[in-house]
Amino acid sequence: MPSVVLTGIGLLATQSAEYGDLPGAAVVIQDSEIAWVGPAAAAPAVDDRVDLGGRCVLPGFVDSHSHLVFAGDRSEEFTARMSGRSYTAGGIATTVAATRAAGDEALTGRVAELTAEMRASGITTYEIKSGYGLTVNDESRCLQIAARFTSETTYLGAHVVPPEYSHAPEDYLDLICGEMLAACAPHARWIDVFCEQGVFDADAARAVLLAGTRYGLGGRVHANQLRPGPGVQLACEMGAASADHCTHLSAADIDALASADTVATLLPGAEFSTRSDYPDARQLLDAGVTVALATDCNPGTSYTTSMPFCIALAVREMGMTPTEAVHAATVGGAAALRRTDIGVIEPGRRADLLALNAPSPVHLAYRPGVGLVGGVWQNGLQVA
Ligand SMILES: [Zn+2]
Repeated sequence: MPSVVLTGIGLLATQSAEYGDLPGAAVVIQDSEIAWVGPAAAAPAVDDRVDLGGRCVLPGFVDSHSHLVFAGDRSEEFTARMSGRSYTAGGIATTVAATRAAGDEALTGRVAELTAEMRASGITTYEIKSGYGLTVNDESRCLQIAARFTSETTYLGAHVVPPEYSHAPEDYLDLICGEMLAACAPHARWIDVFCEQGVFDADAARAVLLAGTRYGLGGRVHANQLRPGPGVQLACEMGAASADHCTHLSAADIDALASADTVATLLPGAEFSTRSDYPDARQLLDAGVTVALATDCNPGTSYTTSMPFCIALAVREMGMTPTEAVHAATVGGAAALRRTDIGVIEPGRRADLLALNAPSPVHLAYRPGVGLVGGVWQNGLQVA
């Protein structure tokens, strides 16, 4: 593949401790990697040249939490919630029924559409969870579909107890940790569990994570979303890569995150879409916790594929500075996936970058709702 220099970069916000913010910069891409970073005037001669006309460039966003394999939509439920009416029909079960009934082609087509939206919003790495199949066959096929789009696939059989097991949830737990896991593990890198009162308690969540360990799957936990609970401390105790949501935290939860290798992944699209209280990112950052931002894209509680929208919410509603929010959407996301090849612009990293039609990344929060992403490179290829 010919080498290419991206030049005319008004501000290169590398997110790298070594390179920092570089004005008047250029980046050389060779094959799928970043080969050189520095002042435009010193850029080496290469095959091709793209002049970005003074735009700002930053690393591609890393979305470490999404649920993209599903069928149907839940706009009626959203409308009811926003109208203050109670809505009793369905919830996740609606999506589970629609997903089970959908063919592979329809599910795959929808993932393709959603990942195209993500790339257009600057996301160059996406994690995708199962969790709307909840049978051995449906979880396995959802993960196989996800694996066509990303290596960051997560088995979430422990999303909810499906209606057919409501009388015997312990039998469903056995299935998740047994036959379903055996069928899903070959297609997954991670295992996740929804640890919440009335869904999977601490003992059940621990059993799920331990079962995943036996197949070499790394742990992730949906933790402390709806109320205080044991999820965050369990994630830290089990060495999970990430505790996700972290909306209702105690001082002990924050201490546990600060001293563990577990990233706190915040999903403000969920609080926005359910009109709930946001997590306090300021408290986490001040305690030294590594924070990631992700979309949580799913049809029930956060149907967004836009990382710029999540950044704007993080700044407006969660006490983050624009710089911190961008860092959480890049470096933080990479940490939540335990990846060292993405999230910053440095020689040797994967060539995942985006150009903004703006002078600095601050504009992502300063100009909310405006489509500022003006070019996206993934693995060295321009994809949007
Ligand atoms: Zn989720």
